[in-house]
Amino acid sequence: MIHVKKIHIKVELGIDFYIHVMEEIGSNFGIQYVPEIYKPSHSDLQWLVRRIERVMKDLKVFPPYVALMLYEWGSIGAFGTPMCGMDKHRKILYLSLQYTTHGGFGIPSEIHEDWILYHELMHGKDVFERRFPSSGPYSQEKYPKMGLITALWHFSIEGRLEKIGKPHKPKERTIQDEHFWLRESVTKDKLQQLCERFWGKEVTYDELTTFLSPS
Ligand SMILES: [Zn+2]
Repeated sequence: MIHVKKIHIKVELGIDFYIHVMEEIGSNFGIQYVPEIYKPSHSDLQWLVRRIERVMKDLKVFPPYVALMLYEWGSIGAFGTPMCGMDKHRKILYLSLQYTTHGGFGIPSEIHEDWILYHELMHGKDVFERRFPSSGPYSQEKYPKMGLITALWHFSIEGRLEKIGKPHKPKERTIQDEHFWLRESVTKDKLQQLCERFWGKEVTYDELTTFLSPS
């Protein structure tokens, strides 16, 4: 594979990983893709980078370097779903996105497409501002509470986006979606209660872990 840069992402939680930048846009945007599977055109990449920059500006998140990881929709593995985080020095923000063959993000059509960028970059902002740890792929066995922590983090994120009038997932839909992932361990009523508590509140990873640990 011919890449212009290989970036080692060292993290505080989970495992370190590498990003193979195939192309750079400007001086601070690197893009990883697998050209044999998905080769975006340069103009499509420029358009996507401008779109991401607009959302970063809107959310006031200005990392020194952004590594965009593009995958085909339906890819399996650690980056098979949208994800955003940073390296532990808060120098590189990584954002993984999955493209459908039609060029979209593969999200339900009733949700505005920009939502995915606002949602993911809010995760990135919380890591950048050190409310959450820098993380890479992790195992469920090692971090059994992460599903619930992520649900509470999502209540915080969507509610904060709602407060500032940005694209977000409505409260009911957020509870419904989190319940889908956690249905084995938490009732919908319990999630509803937790959502009321954390919706729109700025939280930290430490606050959430303390909140969830049995006293
Ligand atoms: Zn999320």
